[in-house]
Amino acid sequence: MNPLTVLGIESSCDETAAAVLRLDENGPHVISDVVRGQAAQHAPYRGVVPEIAARAHVEVLDGTIAAAMADARLGFAELDGIAATAGPGLIGGVMVGLLAGKAIALAHDKPLIAVNHLEGHALSPRLAQGGATFPYLLLLVSGGHCQFIAVLDVGVYRRYGSTMDDALGEAFDKLAKLLNLGFPGGPLVESAAENGDSKRFALPRPLLGREGCDFSFAGLKTACARAVERLGVLTDQDKADLCASFQAAVLDIVEDRTRNAMRMFDSVWGAKGRLVAAGGVAANQAIRSRLEALGEDRGYDFIAPPLRWCTDNAAMIALAGAERLRLGFSDDLSFPARPRWPLDEEAARLRPSHQAGRKGAKA
Ligand code: AMP
Ligand code: MG
Repeated sequence: MNPLTVLGIESSCDETAAAVLRLDENGPHVISDVVRGQAAQHAPYRGVVPEIAARAHVEVLDGTIAAAMADARLGFAELDGIAATAGPGLIGGVMVGLLAGKAIALAHDKPLIAVNHLEGHALSPRLAQGGATFPYLLLLVSGGHCQFIAVLDVGVYRRYGSTMDDALGEAFDKLAKLLNLGFPGGPLVESAAENGDSKRFALPRPLLGREGCDFSFAGLKTACARAVERLGVLTDQDKADLCASFQAAVLDIVEDRTRNAMRMFDSVWGAKGRLVAAGGVAANQAIRSRLEALGEDRGYDFIAPPLRWCTDNAAMIALAGAERLRLGFSDDLSFPARPRWPLDEEAARLRPSHQAGRKGAKA
């Protein structure tokens, strides 16, 4: 295949990011990777404020793209395509990044690839050396998403289950808010849990032992809120114990749901599989260790991207864009920003012309 060099742009939540990636017959190479987080701007509100996020993207996106291009020592003319997140996400932020991508594509006469952010996460384990080969079972756990997806090929995804209420990252963030730990909550809950007694609070494990691989965290969240109400004034030890008890419940839930998802995956793809975790929550070491142990138990290889590619980044967007470009796909400049965009629809968008796209591909 001809090597493809693609600029990726990510702005769907609270990270402004740009990266340059080259895809050749040896796989993807991240040439530059710049992420500018907005945590400090959102911290006073203990959560992401969409308007603040959109304005912050406007302020720093140009500089972020310039930094990624400078790090890569490339000019726009040397790129083969521009990939920008087109959804799902906070609509103001998505519009900022997508419009910037369209402007660069138009000015430099390059193809635009409108990337589904979830496809970026789904393919992110392939960024690392020796990354996951298809097919694999993906647990996507982030601030806005919580689902199992069979990743069969680029653009070919089957959703097995998803959350009925909160995303897992959201549950971590809400507990942190309840305990006044700060924002973003996930890493703070994880480190508080290290000093806590995971058996002190008997918390529910919603859907444990049930069929399927959907998630629910509302009951767990409510039980945490009740415990806080009962305690009244909380000591640091109370907080650590609650975090540890919460995380223990999460680990049991994730293991139980993953076992069921593996059964669904096995029934189609045979027993020896690959389990991949991606999204911000996949940065949690306790969750990674539990999934790794489960993988050993079930004969699955467990793969998680390096931490920097678990949370939102543009390298994964550039990869999804380059993979689509390789298959001969690009998008019209009228492509809309989408606040909601399920990944399974990705398959519908790609499948009808999938074979034609392959034939037409340059590789
Ligand atoms: P993303 O939505 O992929 O940008 O990831 C952000 C989400 O991941 C937020 O909800 C964070 O609280 C969560 N997160 C990040 N690090 C951790 C961690 N170590 N443990 C649990 N959740 C985490
Ligand atoms: Mg984020």
